[in-house]
Order: sequence, then C-alpha cells, then structure tokens
Amino acid sequence: MPAQLLDGRAIAKVVREELRALASEYAERRGHTAGLAIIRVGEQPASDVYVRQLLREAQSIGVRGTLVTLAEDIEDAALRAGIEALNDDEETQGLLVQMPLPPGLSPRVVAEAVSPRKDVDGISMRSAGNLFLRYPSFVPATCAAVVEMLDRYQITLAGQRVVIVGASNTVGKPLAFMLLARDATVTVCHIYTRDLAYWTRQADIIIAAAGKAGLLTGDMIRPGATVVDVGINVLKSGAIVGDVAFESAARVAGALSPVPGGVGPLTPLMALKQMLLEPQIWTPDAT
Ligand code: NAD
Repeated sequence: MPAQLLDGRAIAKVVREELRALASEYAERRGHTAGLAIIRVGEQPASDVYVRQLLREAQSIGVRGTLVTLAEDIEDAALRAGIEALNDDEETQGLLVQMPLPPGLSPRVVAEAVSPRKDVDGISMRSAGNLFLRYPSFVPATCAAVVEMLDRYQITLAGQRVVIVGASNTVGKPLAFMLLARDATVTVCHIYTRDLAYWTRQADIIIAAAGKAGLLTGDMIRPGATVVDVGINVLKSGAIVGDVAFESAARVAGALSPVPGGVGPLTPLMALKQMLLEPQIWTPDAT
C-alpha cells in the first residue's frame, strides 16, 4: 500500500490565505503593515534561494520584506551592531539572520543580539530558554513547519514514539522540545548514534533532518509509520532530494512528505506567521 503524500504545497496554499487575513488585521490594529527584516552576511548562493522565497511570501501576504546585506568580511562587533540597529527600528517587527554565517563570525552573536521580541526564527537564547521551559516561545520556522504539517494532517502526537534524526540547534533539538511539549515520546539520533535503524524502526513518526541524501531507506521504517523529510540535499546532477530514499520509503510508510514540496514551502510561512502572532507568543512576564 503506497504512503499517503504529506503535501506541503497544498497546506501552504491554505496557510497563505490565513496569513493574508492575519496581516491585514495586523495592519488595521497597528495602523501600518508589519515589516520583516532579513540580515544576510555577504552573498550566500545556497541560502539565497530561501531568502528570495521568504521575501516573495512576505509580499504575497501583505508584509513588508527588507533585505539588509552586510559585508562578507565584517567582524562580530559589526554584526552585533547591524542586528541592534534593526532591534531598535520601529518599522521592523520581525528579524531574521540568514544562517550559516561566513567562517569567522560567531553564531553566538546572533543568539545573544536578536531581540527576543522580534525573533521570528526562534534563534535567540531567550527563545531557546522559553522553549526549554515550556513558556510560549518563538521557534525555528523549520520546526514550526514540521509541526504544522503533522497537525494539518491530524497526525496524533501525544503518546507517539517520535524519532528525530539530527540534533542541530536549528532543527533537531528545538523540534525535540516542541514535540515533548505535545506529549510525544521523543528520541534524538545523530551522527554518533549506533545502529540508527534500530531506533527508526521503533518509531510511529520519523523526522529526518540530517542533511544526508538517501539516509533513511524503506527497511529502516516500521510499516505504517509517518515520515517527515526535512533534508535538502543538492545532488551532483543538480537535483534536490531529501534525506529519505523516497521510493523505498513510500512502499512501507503510512504517510510521507516529499522533497521538494514537503516541509520547504511551509518554512517561510511559519516565520511570517510567528511575526503576525507575536502578541500571543511574546510574554515578557514569563521570561
Ligand atoms: P546540521 O548539519 O546543522 O545538523 C545535522 C544533524 O544531523 C547533526 O546533528 C548530525 O549529527 C546529524 N547527522 C548527520 N549525518 C548523520 C547520519 N549519517 N546519521 C545520523 N545523524 C546524522 O544541519 P541542519 O541545519 O539541522 O539541517 C539538516 C537538514 O535539513 C539539511 O539538509 C538542511 O538543508 C535541511 N533544512 C531544511 C529546512 C527546510 O525548510 N526544509 C530548513 C533548515 C534545514
């Protein structure tokens, strides 16, 4: 029985409509449209695709998107100053720093400097602390996209065994805390995990976020399990594939998200959604 396709593009259409309504309510309430600023350090061909996608989505829902490009050879202090200028900018309600940074710059500066009130990609230390402590929190947009997808397909999380493959600060780790907060039993695997298949075969839900094409094959999946593929890998041929060997996985899984067309289309929308819902997320009293 082939797996049900978890169609990120179809969900994105619905979410986009919802965000248009939220953006116009926001503009009415505040008397101006919401503004998202993206800081990019130097030219980054790999992540520029995402920046363009984010700016396009912002425009399509009625949010002002601004790209601020800082010179490739800046040092930590100038990066911090660039972030602080936008923290103080009244026209900027959401602030996102495109990662990864060029070598030599410290991601810690970003985690320290981005205002927790504008942190629509959940990258600041305060957001990480809020998530850890189960206070309302901005979260990384990719993680929000995974949860949005599971929720839209009404896939139960409470009591389910979830295995996340990948333990990064931007995907695996925050997602683990989000799913724990939804009462799932969460296992996080990573590059040093011995016998990955032993863990994945026990999962009701597998989230693949390792950045390794073809890592998860059908024989590593329990029949009927849900598989969400976060990976984005560019093959020598130029083709973009996920971490899941799609054809073999589709023969075993109950539901499976494709790459492209799965989590990817939802990710920029989740940054925008968090920006528009900021009054519900930012609770200074709880931090
Ligand atoms: P990362 O390199 O920071 O982290 C990768 C994680 O996977 C690490 O914890 C590492 O230990 C683990 N890992 C690597 N190889 C492994 C293996 N063979 N077995 C088990 N674990 C392994 O990457 P990241 O930033 O977390 O991104 C992960 C993937 O998700 C990448 O392909 C990235 O392009 C993609 N991504 C997608 C979106 C989206 O919107 N769809 C957003 C962000 C990242």
